[in-house]
Amino acid sequence: MRRLSLSLVESQVKSLVERCCVDLSADLLDGLEKRRGGEPCPWAENTLASLLENARVASRERIPLCQDTGMAVFFVLLGDDLLFERDNGTKGLEETLQRAMRDAYRESSFRTSMVMDPLRRKNTGDNSPAFVHWEFLPGDSLTISFIAKGGGAENMSRLKMFTPACSAEEIEAWIVETVVQAGSNPCPPTVVGVGLGGNFDTVSWLAKRALLRTPLEAANLDPFYGGMEERLLKKINGTGIGPQGLGGETTSLAVHVEAAPCHMATLPAAVNINCHAHRVGRVVL
Ligand code: SF4
Repeated sequence: MRRLSLSLVESQVKSLVERCCVDLSADLLDGLEKRRGGEPCPWAENTLASLLENARVASRERIPLCQDTGMAVFFVLLGDDLLFERDNGTKGLEETLQRAMRDAYRESSFRTSMVMDPLRRKNTGDNSPAFVHWEFLPGDSLTISFIAKGGGAENMSRLKMFTPACSAEEIEAWIVETVVQAGSNPCPPTVVGVGLGGNFDTVSWLAKRALLRTPLEAANLDPFYGGMEERLLKKINGTGIGPQGLGGETTSLAVHVEAAPCHMATLPAAVNINCHAHRVGRVVL
């Protein structure tokens, strides 16, 4: 059994959160640069150039990429051969993640966006709680992925329980319609996460987890879904929504589809869109 210090986990996660809210990843910057070079619409090219400049300024000045520094979401892959040393005074890994996130937001003066209750809406003051999704696997490694998810993009999420009689074409049309309905609200160019299968609870988790895939251009390893991603990206970029919804051929930078087994009488589908401030990263310990 491998021993892992929670102090180490805490410091690594805190840096991860700070980095993600300030620095766009290299694959995202590359994606924006490539699309800028290929944009036939001058105003779309200008908009992409502004987004790239925004990313450069944020990184140089160490300020957030966007005023909405998002809700904090962790996806944890936890090996079952790990023993945590509670050397940071917390009760365990969950508390460590929550504290690392809170400290990162407070020390970097990131906006705190979480409210205590959906109807009474009092800000919690420290961006807590972070959402933590757990997956367990054999071995002694710990992988913690983080996404800072803005409210504008999250609001454009959609879930539908299709019947198994629906074709792939009908589902693809619904995904494209979802992006069209979202328009400029999720601050395009977006990354589109799609979940297919599972059940009502897990399909939206799949869609969000799909956003974590790196590098951005990586296709689903199953050629069936890899082909679907390619078709969807082409159709979405043919809608004319464009960067920031101002028109052009760059509405999305990538579409990632994740599929899972489901009941034979069901076909759940979910879409979770992320904005151009695609603040995703991970640490492996
Ligand atoms: S959707 Fe993204 S880019 Fe737009 S305001 Fe929210 S966090 Fe910022």
